[in-house]
Amino acid sequence: VDRVDVLIVGGGFTGSALACALADGNRRVHVLEARRSPGTRFAGELLHPTGVDQLERLGLLEPLLDAGAVKVSGFAVFPRPGRGETLLPYSAVPGGRPFGLGIEHHQMVGVLRTEASARPGVTVETGARVVDLVREGGRVVGARLESGAERRSALVLCADGRHSKLRRADARLLSFTAALRVRTTLPHPGWGHIFLGAWGPILAYPIADGVARLCFDLPVGTTRATVLDRLRAAYTPVLPAGLRAAVEHALDDEPVELVANHAMRARTLAAPGLALVGDAGGCAHPLTAAGMTICLNDVRLVSDALDGGEELSGYAERRAAFARSRAWLTRSLYRVFRAPDPASRALREGVFRYWRDPRRRAASTALLTGADPTLGGLVRELSRVVLSAVRA
Ligand SMILES: Cc1cc2nc3c(=O)[nH]c(=O)nc-3n(C[C@H](O)[C@H](O)[C@H](O)COP(=O)(O)OP(=O)(O)OC[C@H]3O[C@@H](n4cnc5c(N)ncnc54)[C@H](O)[C@@H]3O)c2cc1C
Repeated sequence: VDRVDVLIVGGGFTGSALACALADGNRRVHVLEARRSPGTRFAGELLHPTGVDQLERLGLLEPLLDAGAVKVSGFAVFPRPGRGETLLPYSAVPGGRPFGLGIEHHQMVGVLRTEASARPGVTVETGARVVDLVREGGRVVGARLESGAERRSALVLCADGRHSKLRRADARLLSFTAALRVRTTLPHPGWGHIFLGAWGPILAYPIADGVARLCFDLPVGTTRATVLDRLRAAYTPVLPAGLRAAVEHALDDEPVELVANHAMRARTLAAPGLALVGDAGGCAHPLTAAGMTICLNDVRLVSDALDGGEELSGYAERRAAFARSRAWLTRSLYRVFRAPDPASRALREGVFRYWRDPRRRAASTALLTGADPTLGGLVRELSRVVLSAVRA
């Protein structure tokens, strides 16, 4: 392969979407992906409407729907067993798309990678693990593969995920997600669900017709040997009876995948000849299902900057602002939805009180989905929650 215009390291969710966005017929885009196939490793599957907007813009929505992606109408949040749930419909966000998407991660990446390979000027090289970046005169000019071969380009975009070894980052282990595939229809078919009352929240959403994914948030220290006992003893009891039976059945038959949840932030997002895109730039706890929406926002920011002939340092600033407000929201909700101390319990009550007002529910949904990306909006709504808790 001779020198290309853009080298993308990683052909996962972000790298594949990025290749589609940059394929303008003139650029030569080369994707280096370590694995030969998307694999079956569990990762993000629930995408908010703002992310779906980006996929549609890239011509990726139809192929995903054709592959069996299901539409998701919003979230149902269950405060504790025996207490009614609160609905946060996507349709409440003014001017927003009324649906998100649910689909198995590896299936989604398979569709995106196939689409990227078919775009003009894009080459996807699989089985190509990058071990280092090539630098000349203080600028990144390419990547070195495990085989020793080098690929050269004017720009390198690292989309190699949160475990990227090509950059420095600060990371903190928060908890584990145990992911389980369950044949069932959820209490609100076609909705995401959050069940509270166990040590950590339980997230459930449809990934295909008649199939749901359940994600249990478990403390650090959980091992493969202890996970099944923990789920049966402390998590399934907070689920509604019908779903509980389906989950207990699945625990007997289906494998449980244990994945670590990190809060992570790269120290620098852009340098001469280089930018980090997607999880390589940073990630937060998956509770708010915001990861892939942030990745697609990165894709849009990078492609807009390149189309406009701008420096990628501007991308880095805009990315940091959007991701920071998402990370704040996730951190706050995760604390309130989990911690058993009296202050957090009071805040939890405050959240549900505040959600009695439909305008507040719409404002929260806009924050959750990134339709309102502002830090000001977040601070305003969080103050209202605190006020509501204090009043309670
Ligand atoms: C438990 C869990 C649940 C989640 N749930 C959600 C959710 O519901 N909704 C949501 O929006 N987000 C969710 N996320 C986040 C979402 O999974 C990520 O934001 C998304 O997968 C990031 O995509 P990425 O392509 O940037 O990174 P990755 O998905 O990590 O992909 C990186 C790619 O780069 C390749 N690669 C890595 N190193 C190299 C190398 N050296 N050379 C070449 N290739 C390389 C890998 O093989 C892979 O294909 C969740 C995350 C976790 C951990």
